[in-house]
Amino acid sequence: MNIDLENRVAVVTGASRGIGAAIAQALASCGAHVVVNYRRNGDLADGVVSSIEAAGGRAEACPFDVADEAQVKQAFGDIAGRLGSIDILVNNAGVSKDALLLRAKSSDMDEMFNTNLKGSIFCSFQASRSMLKQKHGRIVTISSIVGMGGNPGQSVYAAAKAGLIGFTKSLAKELGPKGILVNAVAPGFVETDMTRGMDADALREMIPLRRIGTPADVAGLVVFLCSDLSSYITGQVFVVDGGLYT
Ligand code: NAP
Repeated sequence: MNIDLENRVAVVTGASRGIGAAIAQALASCGAHVVVNYRRNGDLADGVVSSIEAAGGRAEACPFDVADEAQVKQAFGDIAGRLGSIDILVNNAGVSKDALLLRAKSSDMDEMFNTNLKGSIFCSFQASRSMLKQKHGRIVTISSIVGMGGNPGQSVYAAAKAGLIGFTKSLAKELGPKGILVNAVAPGFVETDMTRGMDADALREMIPLRRIGTPADVAGLVVFLCSDLSSYITGQVFVVDGGLYT
């Protein structure tokens, strides 16, 4: 069974590194034209585009801040105008600023809500305008097991990630009748810049599969959810965590 995303345009937010970069590479390997969004690290985003092109795929880098509604509107208008459609949106861009609640800074709370939650809402708003015209589309949002089970030191991050689950379920009900499928993926601990500095040995002991996840572990599921193989699945949250959250 092959996954064919030929002639699909996919926007992956926060794809300059980590999980987003792996998702961009995986979607492109199935034939999608991938828009590699980033906020600051243009060199890394260019590297992701080059790796996709070297493998025979199509991609372009696209800077915008998902938390800035005007930038999001302009970027999605430009993408839809130039490429003709937006078939897939992966809301992956995210930040975590870990702190116990009594030490949490208001500016960090704003950044986590604005990027993780409002950013995904802004991008879904703009992408769904194109998808509604096309009468098809896929939106996959990266939440976290922390938004389902909680974690000390991550209460604000968890609130934003839990918000994405309610958003996903509601949007799936709104857009399902229009042929647009909306799902969420909740990774456990994945080896990226975000988890650098965590105690890997202690984490491994807690994970039934005894390893930390890789970005590719998450990317495989996202590709499935963007493909025709998942055409009767919407409004769901899929955990990818080696069995940690059960
Ligand atoms: P990462 O390595 O820190 O990469 C974050 C990405 O998001 C970068 O590409 C960054 O762009 C981009 N970004 C941040 N703020 C942005 C903004 N305002 N606008 C546009 N792009 C922005 O993170 P990751 O570990 O791959 O995480 C990816 C997603 O998975 C996040 O939503 C995260 O919450 C979620 N997640 C991660 C884990 C984990 O264990 N790693 C677990 C569960 C969920 P620049 O490079 O330009 O800064």
